[in-house]
Amino acid sequence: MKSAEAPAITRLAGRIPQHPTVVVGDDGIRYEGAEREQQLDPDFMVLWECWGGLAEGPPLYGEFDPEVQRRATDRLLCAYGMEAPHREPGEGMLWLLHTDADAHQWPADIQTTTPPICRPHAERALQRCATLRRHLAVRVREAEPIGVRGTVYGQDGPGGPDELVLFTDENRLRFVHARHLVLELRGAVPDPVFHPQPSATATQ
Ligand SMILES: [Zn+2]
Repeated sequence: MKSAEAPAITRLAGRIPQHPTVVVGDDGIRYEGAEREQQLDPDFMVLWECWGGLAEGPPLYGEFDPEVQRRATDRLLCAYGMEAPHREPGEGMLWLLHTDADAHQWPADIQTTTPPICRPHAERALQRCATLRRHLAVRVREAEPIGVRGTVYGQDGPGGPDELVLFTDENRLRFVHARHLVLELRGAVPDPVFHPQPSATATQ
C-alpha cells in the first residue's frame, strides 16, 4: 500500500470474515472441528473472528479491518502507517477521536477501538480529510486493553449488533465472537498543538 492511499487500518473491500462454523457449548463458543482452549487468544482468552480474502479493492472508509485493528491497538501502532509513533518525553501518545471537546470533562477516561496515530500522519489526515476535521486530537499518557466488541452468542445463536464485553465479565466473555479490541485511554486531554486553548485574556 502506498503512503498516499487509505490508512492501514481501513478495511479494503476484498477483506471478508472467513472462519469455520461457530458452535455454542456450555463453557462458551468455539469453531467447529477443534477444542475451544486451542482457539482462544492466549493473552485475552477470547475467540477472535477470523478474516480472510485479499487486501485489495476500494477502501471502506469508517470501517476498521478487524485483524489490523487488533494488532494496532494491542501494540499501540499508528493507525495510518502501523509504525510505532514517536513519543515526546512527557507528552504521551496522540489519538484522533470522533468526538468534540465539549463532550468530555478533561482530563477524561475514554473507551475506544481507535488505535493511536503519529503526529505527521495526524497532520496529514487533518489537512486532507474534511470528516477528520470534526475529530478531536487528544494526548494520552496511559492506554490499556479493557475488553472487546463483538457478537455475543446465546444458546440459540448470535445475538444482535456488536456489544462491548469487558475482560472482567467472564460469563459473557466466553460467549463473545470478538471483532475489535477496546482500549481505555486514561487522563486524555485535548492536544494543545492541534487545539490551542483560547487565550485567558481574550475580551468580548
Ligand atoms: Zn504514522
